Amino acid sequence: MANTTSHPKTSWDTLHKNGPFDLKLLQITQLEGKANIPSAIDRYNDAAKEIQNLIKEARDNNEGFRAYGARWSMSSVAHQKDRMHYNSYMNLDLPIFSDDVHQASSFEKSNLFFFQCGNTIKEISQALGAHGKSLKTSGASNGQTIAGCISTGVHGSALDVGSIQDYVVGLNLITGPNPEDIVYIERHTKPALANSFIQKINSKVIRNDELFNAALVSLGSFGFIHGVVLEAEDRFLLKRYVKKINKDTALKLAKTMDFAASDFRIEGEIDVNGKPKRPYHYKVFINPYIDDDQYVVEAMYKKPYTSRYPDPFNTIEKSVYRDLIYLLIKISEKFPKRIPFFIKQLQKQILPDVNEESLGTLYETFWDAPYQGPAFACSFGVDSKDSEKALKVLIDLTKKEGPIPGIYAMRFVKKSEATLAFTKFPITCMIEIDGVLWKKSRNLMSLKEFSKRMIQVLQHNNIPFTIHWGKNSDWGFPGLVEYMYGARAKEWKKYRNSLLSKEMAQLFSNGFLDTVGLSNVNEEIEIETLDEDLIASLLD
Ligand SMILES: Cc1cc2nc3c(=O)[nH]c(=O)nc-3n(C[C@H](O)[C@H](O)[C@H](O)COP(=O)(O)OP(=O)(O)OC[C@H]3O[C@@H](n4cnc5c(N)ncnc54)[C@H](O)[C@@H]3O)c2cc1C
Repeated sequence: MANTTSHPKTSWDTLHKNGPFDLKLLQITQLEGKANIPSAIDRYNDAAKEIQNLIKEARDNNEGFRAYGARWSMSSVAHQKDRMHYNSYMNLDLPIFSDDVHQASSFEKSNLFFFQCGNTIKEISQALGAHGKSLKTSGASNGQTIAGCISTGVHGSALDVGSIQDYVVGLNLITGPNPEDIVYIERHTKPALANSFIQKINSKVIRNDELFNAALVSLGSFGFIHGVVLEAEDRFLLKRYVKKINKDTALKLAKTMDFAASDFRIEGEIDVNGKPKRPYHYKVFINPYIDDDQYVVEAMYKKPYTSRYPDPFNTIEKSVYRDLIYLLIKISEKFPKRIPFFIKQLQKQILPDVNEESLGTLYETFWDAPYQGPAFACSFGVDSKDSEKALKVLIDLTKKEGPIPGIYAMRFVKKSEATLAFTKFPITCMIEIDGVLWKKSRNLMSLKEFSKRMIQVLQHNNIPFTIHWGKNSDWGFPGLVEYMYGARAKEWKKYRNSLLSKEMAQLFSNGFLDTVGLSNVNEEIEIETLDEDLIASLLD
C-alpha cells in the first residue's frame, strides 16, 4: 500500500522564498514498491486510494487539503494553511497501447502518454525521448511537475503551439473520498482514451469540452489531479540564435508577428520565396534602464531530428541565470540608485551571449534552472498587438517610480482553450520582469506596491491584460479577476461547483482562491450552477 508520512509544521515556503506561509501538516506519499505490486496500473490505483484516505482525514478534521509540485510558483497559489501534499514521488507513467485509445480518437496513437501528477517536465522528456518523442513545448526550464504546470498555465515562447496545458488531452481527478469520486475528463470533440482503459483506473468518464477546459487551468482547485494524458510529437531539434537587432524591428515583430515581412533575417532561415521563416520561438530581452536602440532577441527554428549534432551543453549551460546576480543585487539593496548601473554591468551575466548559436532537442534547450535563492517574477499577458504600448507603460513606470532590481523580457504564446488561461489573446505577449527579491526602503518601493502600480498603469492606459497565476502580483487588487476574465471567471466557478460537492469545494480552496474571489463556497450557489447536465458526458 502507498505510504504517507505526515509532518506537523508551522510554516511552508516556495522555492524562491516568497513566503513564509502558515501550515499545520505536510504530507508526502510514497508509492508501493514494484516488487510488491508489479503492475503500474495497480500501483497507480493503490496511490489513488491513499490520496482518498488523506482527503477523508482532512474532511473529518474540517481542514483544507492541497497538492503541490515543485513549489516553483511565486504567488501563494500552491499554499493551503491546513494540509499540503507533496507529489514528487508520484511519478509513474502508464503505457497506452493501441487498444486503449478511443475508437473515435483523431490522435496518432503512438503520441498519447499517461503520466502521474508528480512527474517533472525533465522526467517526462526523458520518458518520451526513449520513445523518440518530445513535448511540444515547455517553460524556460524543466523542474516543474506536470500537474503544477497545467494548474497555473506554464508557457514558453512557442508562438504557434501554446502552453503546456494545450497539449494535455485527458485529466484524471480525485474529487472526494468515495469510490465514485474519481473521474476521468476529456473533450467530447477530441476523445483520447477508450472506456476500457478508464475502467482500469477505476474512474467515471466525463467527455465534455466545457468542463475539461475549466478543469485544465484549475489553480489546484478542481480536486487532486492524479494523472494527465498528453499528446506528444516526434522528437525534433531546435536551432537557437541570439542576435542584437534594431529595437524598432524587434518591437514591430512583437506587434505584428509578421516575420515574412520583417527585415529580421538569419542566414539559413529563409524560405523558398526568399522570405524570413517564422520561428518556433521568439523572445526579446530588455534592460529597462538603458535607452539602447538595439535589443537582444532569441529565435529558434524547428529542425528534423537526427542523432548527429554537436553537444549543445557547452552553450546552454553558459546561458542560464548565474548566482552573481544575487550578490550584486544584495549590494544594490544598500545603494538603490546604483541598480541601473549594476544591471548594465550584469547584462553580460543575465542575457545570453549575442551571436550565440546552439542546436538541441527541446529537452536539451530548456534546461535546469540552477538559481535557488530568493527571487521575484511578475508576468503580464497582453495581446501581442498591444505589446509595444504595454512594454512602454511598464518601463516608464519602472524608470519613474523604481528602480526595481529586475530585467524585462517578452515571450509569445498561442491562445489556449482553457477557461482561465492567461494566454487568452490570439497571440499573448507575456511581458515578464524577473529579478531578485528586495526589501522596501526609503528609496525602493515594495514588490507589492510595484505590483499594484503595474496593474494601475495598464488599466489607466486601457490595455487589457492577464497575470500569470504562478507569479507575484497584488492579487487582492479590487476586481482584478473580473477585469481579466469577465464572464469566464463565472463560468469556471460554475463548472467547479458542479463537479465538486460543496464540502469538497471548500476542502480544495485556499487563501489565494479566496483573495481573488474564485472560491465562493459560502455564496448562494445559483440554481443553474447545480445543473447536472452541465457536467454530463457528451460522448460514450
Ligand atoms: C526557475 C523558475 C522558472 C520558471 N519558468 C517559467 C516559465 O518559463 N514559464 C512559466 O509559465 N512559468 C515559469 N515559472 C513559474 C512556474 O513554472 C509555475 O508557477 C508552475 O506552476 C510551477 O509548477 P510546480 O510543479 O512547481 O507547481 P507548484 O508551484 O508547486 O503548484 C502550482 C499549482 O499547482 C497545483 N497543483 C500541483 N500539483 C497538483 C495536483 N496533483 N493536483 C491539484 N493541484 C496541483 C498547486 O496546488 C498550485 O495551485 C518558473 C518558476 C521558476 C521558479
